[in-house]
Parts: sequence; C-alpha cells; structure tokens
Amino acid sequence: MANQPTIGVLALQGDAREHLAAVESCGARGIGVRRASELESVDGLVIPGGESTTMSRLLTVFDLLEPLRARLKAGMPAYGSCAGMILLASEILDTRPDAEHLNGLDITVRRNAFGRQVDSFEADLDFAGIDGDPVRAVFIRAPWVEHAGAGVDVLARVPEGPAAGHIVAVRQGDVLATSFHPEVTGDRRVHRLFVDMVRGN
Ligand code: GLN
Repeated sequence: MANQPTIGVLALQGDAREHLAAVESCGARGIGVRRASELESVDGLVIPGGESTTMSRLLTVFDLLEPLRARLKAGMPAYGSCAGMILLASEILDTRPDAEHLNGLDITVRRNAFGRQVDSFEADLDFAGIDGDPVRAVFIRAPWVEHAGAGVDVLARVPEGPAAGHIVAVRQGDVLATSFHPEVTGDRRVHRLFVDMVRGN
C-alpha cells in the first residue's frame, strides 16, 4: 500500500464512476470491484448509492456476499453512501424481507426515510472531523440512522426542517457511512477522510 492505498468501489450497480474519480483525486488508486479476486486486492472499499435491494441480490449473484462479510469482519475499512449505508447496517427497516445486509456497523437504518416529507433535498451539515465550511449534502431517496449503537460515533445530523435531528453520518472504527452523496458535489472532504482512514489502517 505504502502511501497510495488501493480503494475498491463496488461496481455492481449505482454510481461507481464518480466515487472512483473522487478517491483518485485524494491520491488513492481506484478499482471497480465486481468479483471476489478484485475484492481481495483492495485496502478499503466504497459501497456507492443505488438501490440497496438490487445490490443485495447482485452481491449474492456475483458470489460477493460472504467474501465481503468476511473482509469486513477482518477489519477492512469501508465507506457506504446512501444504499451503501443501508447495506453496511446491522438492521434495515422498510426493506424487502429477503434483503441481505453486511453487519459492518451497529446501526438500524430506515430506508427511504425522508420520503414521507420529500424524496430528495440538500442541506449544509456540520460534520464532526471535517473542518472549515459546512458539508453540502445531497440526499436522494436517502435512509437515516434510526438507532446507533454505543460504539458508533455520530458525525452529522440534519440541521433543520421536518427531519431535523436525524442522524445522517456515522463512523464505527474504520467503517464510515453517510445517508447523502458527497461524490456529486465536487467537495472531496468526505472521500479524503475515508482515504486517510484507509492509510491509517
Ligand atoms: N432508496 C435507495 C435504497 O433503498 C437508496 C437511494 C440511493 O442510494 N440514492 O436502496
């Protein structure tokens, strides 16, 4: 790894390309991950947004579900955005009964949680560990964290509006998750945080 970690982006479905560009602009080598041999070669993994029940099914079809669970259990750093956050959770509310999850974080997430008020919106977040300007967060049919376990650091909450106070960014050890999509704004600070986590692992 040296100073240039290899970061995989799960590329079964969803917006993998933007995440690859983001981690590469933070100095990592980025590779798309579609098979277990590719997963083996990475120092950390981004699980992008998309549709969590579809990604869950594809993880099974591509024989990646158990290898991914095993690497997470062995301490591989991971970052999940939106559907990626859902997959990393230990419990998912409002999903299909057959949807798999990865148990990478001790959190309960609610899928499409903001949908009752509004499908998609943007907000400026105070994000623990990211200094300077607030982080502009784009939420697209996003989940929120309904419950975070004792070992989980809450990094950001919705600041105002009908959903004020709900948790939208968390970290537990070397696993990071956001309800929102930092890859679409051009602000690389969330990806930089993750790349630094992988370098430190
Ligand atoms: N609503 C999607 C799901 O349940 C997540 C949306 C997203 O990743 N932008 O998987």
